[in-house]
Amino acid sequence: MDRKSRLLKFVKVVKDTYEKLSEEEAPVKLMKKVKGKSPFHALITTMLSVRARDEVTHRVAAELLRKAPTPEALCSMPLEEIERILKPLGFYRQKARNVKEAACRIVEEYGGRVPDTLEELLKFRGVGRKVANIVLYNAFGKPAVGVDTHVFRIIKERWQLLPDAKKPEDVERFLMENLPRRMWGEVNRYLVGFGQAICKPINPRCEICPLRRECPYASKGKE
Ligand code: SF4
Repeated sequence: MDRKSRLLKFVKVVKDTYEKLSEEEAPVKLMKKVKGKSPFHALITTMLSVRARDEVTHRVAAELLRKAPTPEALCSMPLEEIERILKPLGFYRQKARNVKEAACRIVEEYGGRVPDTLEELLKFRGVGRKVANIVLYNAFGKPAVGVDTHVFRIIKERWQLLPDAKKPEDVERFLMENLPRRMWGEVNRYLVGFGQAICKPINPRCEICPLRRECPYASKGKE
């Protein structure tokens, strides 16, 4: 089977597996509820999720956005109050500065609306390519692939579909070239949930994985 066919087959199995996982097993599912409320919710929640666990991020993001549900409200919130709410997250001081600055720039430079292009989103401090792509899909339904550590690890090391990948952009390009556009946005969620519940960073649960017979990483372990 060629690389593209293997990718399509593996992603389909992962999608079916993801759908059966609980929110406890795959906390990425919790994030959808907060992100889905508005483009602003999607932006702030995704910015807060960097280097943080989804089960903590979704709770903290929901609290912040309940108190400051619009760019205007977050821009006017005192930095100390934002820091207090974000404290359970790593890098909370930096994140507090970044989300407040983003909210103020949205008000002052974008008429209160989150911009809907990669180029503009990348201008915000605290927004890299992964965050921007996730926002483009979640907030605006634009086809874009967000590559985080789960996606990178599974494609490169576990499925060995792109063993020479050096950076997330290599995996992003590979997925865009080989998956139909309608799957670009959701593939992040499927692979993140699968990575949280089964193909974990340390000690992947190959014994219960539906891909264990075809996965190169699992077969190597058996040699
Ligand atoms: S068999 Fe193991 S390494 Fe391969 S995808 Fe499943 S959990 Fe990950």
